Amino acid sequence: MRYSEMFLPTGREVPSDAELISHQLMIRAGLMRKLTSGVYSYLPLGYRVIRKFEQIVREEMNRAGAQEIFLPMVQPAELWQESGRWVRYGKELLRFRDRHDRECCLGPTHEEVITDLVRNEIKTYRQLPRNLYQIQTKFRDEIRPRFGVMRCREFGMKDAYSFDTDEAGAEVSYRKMFEAYQRIFTRCGLNFRPVEADSGSIGGRYSHEFMVMANSGEDAICHCSACNYAANLEKAEIARPAESETAGTTLDVEEVNTPGVRTIEEVCSFLQVAPDAVVKTLIFSVDDTPVAVLIRGDQEVNEIKVKNFLGCDSLELADDAMIRKVTGSPLGFAGAVGIQARVIADYSLLGMSDCVMGANREDYHLRHVKPGRDFPIADYADLRIIRESDPCPRCGGEVRFARGIEVGHVFKLGTKYSKAMKAVFLDQSGKEKIMVMGCYGIGIGRTVAATIEQNYDADGIVWPLPLAPYAVIITPVNVNEKMLADAAAELYHILTEKGVEVILDDRDERAGVKFKDADLIGIPYRVTVGPKRLAGGKMEIKTRRSGEVAILPVSEVTPFLIARIREGL
Ligand code: ATP
Ligand code: MG
Repeated sequence: MRYSEMFLPTGREVPSDAELISHQLMIRAGLMRKLTSGVYSYLPLGYRVIRKFEQIVREEMNRAGAQEIFLPMVQPAELWQESGRWVRYGKELLRFRDRHDRECCLGPTHEEVITDLVRNEIKTYRQLPRNLYQIQTKFRDEIRPRFGVMRCREFGMKDAYSFDTDEAGAEVSYRKMFEAYQRIFTRCGLNFRPVEADSGSIGGRYSHEFMVMANSGEDAICHCSACNYAANLEKAEIARPAESETAGTTLDVEEVNTPGVRTIEEVCSFLQVAPDAVVKTLIFSVDDTPVAVLIRGDQEVNEIKVKNFLGCDSLELADDAMIRKVTGSPLGFAGAVGIQARVIADYSLLGMSDCVMGANREDYHLRHVKPGRDFPIADYADLRIIRESDPCPRCGGEVRFARGIEVGHVFKLGTKYSKAMKAVFLDQSGKEKIMVMGCYGIGIGRTVAATIEQNYDADGIVWPLPLAPYAVIITPVNVNEKMLADAAAELYHILTEKGVEVILDDRDERAGVKFKDADLIGIPYRVTVGPKRLAGGKMEIKTRRSGEVAILPVSEVTPFLIARIREGL
C-alpha cells in the first residue's frame, strides 16, 4: 500500500484517559479511535492486526478439530431465563425490548444460544463430541471500561463450546483447547502463562486463564519459583502445614479489659503481642446463616475460598445485628469461645496454642486461649490469601507474585447449562444422558493490546512479525528525487509480487518524519532508499526490534527480507 493513500492518522496526541501504553500507542499509531465509552472503531492498520490474530486463532482452532460457526448477537430473553442467568447476570447484560415488546439482550457470551442450537440438532452419542467456535462481537456493559480495548464494552471474542458424552471426553476436549491456546499465544511471540483459576463452587470443575505477563496487568498471579505451578492469586492453594507437636499453654484463659481496642494492630500494641499470636474472628453471613471464620492475626481471609469451601450461594461479612446476635457484643470483640455459630478455621490456626482473641464482650479480649481446649473447631481448611514466599502447594518451593493480562480462558462447565437447558442425547444403550460441556474464550482486541504491552519502546510499537500489519516499509528519503522514487517503487512492486506485505512511504515528507512514523507503527523491517547508498547500488535494511542495520546490494534486499520473514523473525 502507498502511504500517501492510506487512512492512517498518526500523531503525538494522547487522550487524557489513556493510562496504559498500549492504549496510548493504539491511538497514536492510528490503529483505532474511540466512538463512545468502551466502544472503539478499528482503522485499517488496527484491523489488519486484528485479522492477523484472528487468522492464527482460526488456524489453531481448526487444527484442534473445532468448527467455525457464527451465532447471532441479539438473543431472546427466554433462553437466558431457562439458564437462570437473565436474573443472575447483572448489569453487564444489556437488555432491551424490540418493537413487539419482546425482551432481548446483546450477547456477552453465547452458552445459551449454542446449547439451544445443539440440543435441537444433536440427538445421539454418534453425533458427539463436537466443538463449535465463532469469532464474534460481544457486548458487556462493563461498569468501568478502561485501558482502551483491554476492558471495553463492545469487543471481539473467539468463543468455543465443546459437547461430550461424559467427563472423560470433556477432559480430552479441554486438553485439546488448552494445547491450541498454547500454540496460539506462542505463535504470537507472547510471554504468557496458563494459570489455574477459580471457577466458583460448581464442584469438581476447573479452569485455566491464559495470562500475558505484564506489570500493567489487572490480574495478580502467583507462581512457583521452582516448578511450573501458577495460579490466579484468588485461587492459589496453600497446603495443610504439617502439625507440629506443641504442648500448648498450661495457663487458664484470662479475660483482660481492652477498652476501645478492636483491630489487630490495636490489640497487638495494647497487649504487647505479635500479630501471629492473635486469632482474628470474622463473622460471615452465609446464605443468611452466621459462620465464624478464624484466621491467624497476620493473615487475610480469602472470601472466594470460604465460599467454595462452604459451597454457598452468597457470602458477605455479617452486619452489626448478626454480630451482636452471635457474639453478644459489638463489632471488634468477636472470638470463638462461646460463640453461637459454626466455627471454621484456616490452617494457620494449626499449631497455635496460646493465643489472644476477642472475648465476645465489649471492651474485653481473652488470652492464653488454646484452640481445641477452649473451643471446638468444626473444620480446618485453606481459607487464606496466599503471600509471597509461602510454600508452593505442588512442590514446596517458594511462590512469587507477578501481574498479568487475562487474554484467554478455558473452562470446564460440566452440565451446568446442558442440565438447565436439557441438552440431552441417547447413549449406546438408548438411555438419555446429559451432555458435558466446556467453554473456551479468547479476547481478540485484548490480546492485541496485551501484545503491545510486551512489545514497545520509546519510539512506538514493535510488532512481532506474525501480528505486524505489514512486514516491510520502504522509505525513499526524498520522493522528489526520481532515482530514489523509482528504485523504491521497483522494490515495492517486487516485494508485493512475492506476497510480502509492504508499505511504500511515498509521502513528500522529511525523512525524519517518515522514520518516526515507521517506528511508531512498528513495522518490523524498514528499507531506506537514500542517495548515497543507492549511488553505490545499495539499500539499508533496519530491523525495528534490534535496531540492527544491514546494508545490502539492491538485488539482495528481496531475498534477505523473504528469508527473514519466512523464518518468522
Ligand atoms: P475479566 O475477568 O477480565 O472481566 P472475564 O472472566 O469476564 O474477564 P471471560 O468471560 O472468560 O472473561 O471472557 C473470555 C475472554 O474475553 C477473556 O479472557 C478476555 O480476553 C476477553 N474479555 C472479557 N471481557 C472483556 C472486556 N471487557 N474487554 C475486552 N476483552 C474482554
Ligand atoms: Mg468480566
